[in-house]
Amino acid sequence: MSESILSSLFSSNPYFSAGIGVLGFGAGLAALRQGLVRGSYLVRRKLLVSLEIPSKDKSYQWFLYWMSKRINNNSRNNTHQYAVQTSFIQHDNGSISTTFSLIPGPGKHYFKWRGVWLQVERQRDAKLLDITSGSPWETVTLTTLSKDKYIFTELLQESRKLALEQQEGKTVIYTSWGPEWRQFGLPRKRRFLNSVILDKGIKERILQDVKEFINNDKWYNERGIPYRRGYLLYGPPGSGKSSFIQALAGELEYNICIMNLSERGLTDDRLTHLLSNAPERSIMLLEDIEYQSMVTFSGLLNALDGVASSEERIIFMTTNHVELLDKALIRPGRIDVKELLGDASEYQIKTMFLRFYEGENKLAEEFVQKVKDKKISMAQLQGHFVFHKNYPENSVLYADSITK
Ligand code: ADP
Repeated sequence: MSESILSSLFSSNPYFSAGIGVLGFGAGLAALRQGLVRGSYLVRRKLLVSLEIPSKDKSYQWFLYWMSKRINNNSRNNTHQYAVQTSFIQHDNGSISTTFSLIPGPGKHYFKWRGVWLQVERQRDAKLLDITSGSPWETVTLTTLSKDKYIFTELLQESRKLALEQQEGKTVIYTSWGPEWRQFGLPRKRRFLNSVILDKGIKERILQDVKEFINNDKWYNERGIPYRRGYLLYGPPGSGKSSFIQALAGELEYNICIMNLSERGLTDDRLTHLLSNAPERSIMLLEDIEYQSMVTFSGLLNALDGVASSEERIIFMTTNHVELLDKALIRPGRIDVKELLGDASEYQIKTMFLRFYEGENKLAEEFVQKVKDKKISMAQLQGHFVFHKNYPENSVLYADSITK
């Protein structure tokens, strides 16, 4: 609270200004005013407590989210200045929808919570930049009466609980943003592993390998081996590479950090920094690794190797063109497991057919015979089945319409 409520009251009251006319009386009043101002400072110091939450702190986002829920659910509140916060939700089919929520804008706001009055002041310092993110430095200051200061702890606990509840059973996607990781949109519903159909055995092999890795931190640490494991999924587009990684993250209850190597302004140093400072319990995903990047090849290798040895790091790389990759990038130690996710195999075609048309075994066989040599992707199959979703016979009848 930069200006106390009491002192601003007195300074704007004309009877307390010195120009009242009667000099002696005026002087007396001036002294009185001074005393009152000083007194108000003392009162404030004695009676009020403040809590400052800088934008760098985790609880800052939690608090704003909590506040936005309060505003959006409560039509009676005293906030007059709002700011809008937009969130993206990306659905499984790739479409994106946005939601808006209102959060208190910069300035002072008052509200009552659990019977206690609180002042929230949101300040933005345009001159001070947060050097890691390049965004203006902000602070939120909460003020309340000293006797109610327990409310701060309750409020922070409540906002943390709310933020975590929102993530429960969901996968959080982070993307690299300058030198830091930022949550991309709202947490997504977990994708189930059995919704991704890979050729026989692939899913089980990878899952078992990752689980074994996660459970063996002691083994790595005792031998001083960097605690990291790299996976490469390669194959044509639409074979389920991204979908599988999402489902795997859901199964493990991990989040995903998507490293965008073609981001402008990404430097070797920044990449190293990002790879070694990822949120915990996350899978690092480097998509389309063959793409041109701003980072140098040696910078990429260094960043991959340089990840602090004791920290667990699971790295997934995907590519549509494995033949373009440098052997140095995919040598053991950098990539430990390679799997081809190809066009739909007979097994995959049949399994996917039966997922859409339960119990239609005979039609499934017929369908497999019709399309097995066409080299179609799982994404194309999905499109075809969605189109004929209620008519398995038509799905078979028009199987020839699926073209690459
Ligand atoms: P990739 O990353 O290999 O290009 P995606 O995972 O992005 O492919 O898949 C694109 C779409 O096709 C998604 O909607 C996904 O549900 C579907 N799809 C692709 N492969 C599979 C698969 N093996 N099993 C189930 N669905 C798949």
